[in-house]
Amino acid sequence: ANIFQSTCTGVNERTFLAIKPDGVQRHLIGEIIRHFEKKGFKLVGMKLMQASEDLLKEHYIALCDRPFYSHLVEYMRSGPIAAMVWQGLDVVKMARTMIGETNPADSRPGTIRGDFCIEVSKNVIHGSDSIESARREISLWFHTDKLTCWAESTEHWIYE
Ligand code: GDP
Ligand code: MG
Repeated sequence: ANIFQSTCTGVNERTFLAIKPDGVQRHLIGEIIRHFEKKGFKLVGMKLMQASEDLLKEHYIALCDRPFYSHLVEYMRSGPIAAMVWQGLDVVKMARTMIGETNPADSRPGTIRGDFCIEVSKNVIHGSDSIESARREISLWFHTDKLTCWAESTEHWIYE
């Protein structure tokens, strides 16, 4: 755990992204992955899975007092989720910028939520909101020793 935390900074920073059940059903997996690939970020973990109620309740524990909490957990349980870990410089913040605002109505065109969805309760993708949340969420959804560290041949064309 120590090695994991200390190495996940700079170009090795990591975030947790998940294409929600509506995104999977609407065949947006390829397009969303393409977005982050084209940007220059590196995919280090990916799985398609049906998440359990326990996992989802824990994932969204910070929202447990919100009126939409149980609806949110049901939405996330309504089909498979594409869970992913992406790596790169400032990836947590940059991925949030690329995703857009929580409500698609407030999201600019060019962002994922701005381009692919309409309602807050069906907003196609999740992204960690801080480095701390990313750490928590990655270890919740993945065995961190199963994430793949690989050398990208294009890295010197992306970073100085
Ligand atoms: P995010 O970090 O941008 O995903 O937003 P939050 O962490 O605040 O909320 C988590 C998720 O809960 C959002 O992505 C939405 O899917 C859902 N959500 C947030 N606000 C509302 C709401 O007012 N109503 C409903 N039904 N769902 C909401
Ligand atoms: Mg959030």
